[in-house]
Amino acid sequence: MPMEIGDKDDSVEMLKNIHISSHDDDRDDDADPEEVEDLMNDDDDDDDEDDDEVQKPVTLGFVEKPKNEWSLLRQLFPSKAGGAPAWLDPDNLPSGRSRLCDICEQPLQFLLQVYAPTSDRESTFHRTLYLFTCPSMSCLLRDQHEQWKRPAVNASRSVKVFRCQLPRDNPFYLSEPPRHDGSDKPLGSGAPLCNWCGTWKGDKICGSCREARYCSEKHQAMHWRSGHKVMCQNSSRNAGSSSADDHKPASRSLWPEHEIVNEDEAEYDVDVSADLDNTNCLVSRNQMDDSINSLVKSFQGDSDRRSWGNFQERVARAPEQVLRYCRNVCSKPLWPISSGQPSAADIPNCSYCGKPRCFEFQVLPQLLYFFGVKNDVDSLDWATIAVYSCEESCDGAASYKEEFAWVQVSSPSQVVP
Ligand SMILES: [Zn+2]
Ligand SMILES: [Zn+2]
Ligand SMILES: [Zn+2]
Ligand SMILES: [Zn+2]
Repeated sequence: MPMEIGDKDDSVEMLKNIHISSHDDDRDDDADPEEVEDLMNDDDDDDDEDDDEVQKPVTLGFVEKPKNEWSLLRQLFPSKAGGAPAWLDPDNLPSGRSRLCDICEQPLQFLLQVYAPTSDRESTFHRTLYLFTCPSMSCLLRDQHEQWKRPAVNASRSVKVFRCQLPRDNPFYLSEPPRHDGSDKPLGSGAPLCNWCGTWKGDKICGSCREARYCSEKHQAMHWRSGHKVMCQNSSRNAGSSSADDHKPASRSLWPEHEIVNEDEAEYDVDVSADLDNTNCLVSRNQMDDSINSLVKSFQGDSDRRSWGNFQERVARAPEQVLRYCRNVCSKPLWPISSGQPSAADIPNCSYCGKPRCFEFQVLPQLLYFFGVKNDVDSLDWATIAVYSCEESCDGAASYKEEFAWVQVSSPSQVVP
């Protein structure tokens, strides 16, 4: 598509000017030594008084091969990607439709989990967020339209997030921290899982061996075709010991299992010009007034390109990052694309307590590379998945509380010249 460069450049200049003036204001504040002192203190203890423009420290997540075969067991409270989830509450798993892609109605696939306890309350001594997605790209494309729906509770989603939390004293784990020497054990075995996906509760039992368990007819059929047909007859009179000990899911289509390790973004040698950050702020600001909003809209091509440039530049500090974590009422995702960002009203309030949700972490497309997902037209692909969770981390009624994910799928190749 030919671009009308002259026109657009003018408007970009306008945006820049608007921007620079607000940036200068900030710089005046920052230059005040007392203010700087305050900010530093804030970082150390209390974040409540920070305003929107302060850069929150971001924790980056990287994937690695698990150090030991027990490293990712649920009693070690792991952050992990791929494989099957390590359910914090092993009994009261998400059930019914919440474990299905609402679009194709197939069971969702586990993407990753982030162990993110908070000290705000006793019930979040342990706290893990779980992210699932349908592996179908066509579902994700439809999901992207659905996420704009209001009220979002009725939207059909192919990406789902669950939050689970437990107090220190709970029926599933010792209150002492794990020793990380391979000897840690959970207090019970938890609900039996699907033999195929190892992800969801296996509430259906194979009618012939009465041993194999499945979350869905689809997974039963897949297991049958891939070998259970033979195993079933042979193992029907075997003791249950082998299947009880073998927790490995039979499916080969799970994403490869990785441990997620953390690093502070600040550890990476940084020379981020404040200017760049600020530009990014402008295009991601939720409460832009209408005139600026329409200005940005009419020059989407340029702002997308700039947004992508900023995104790339920031991510280039640690190019292998797969996750950016920053839970704070005023933190925002680093949007790859300026168009298609949610406004505050697009993020539904917590469906359990009604309080607003805040941004907690985002997943980057690099994860797909580590998962070995092919780069075909139909392959799963996203620019980012931003996860929003109840700002109160409320206890709600369910053990796994559904939170909200915002997906940007636009391919970077469409916005980068
Ligand atoms: Zn689907
Ligand atoms: Zn299953
Ligand atoms: Zn069977
Ligand atoms: Zn809530």
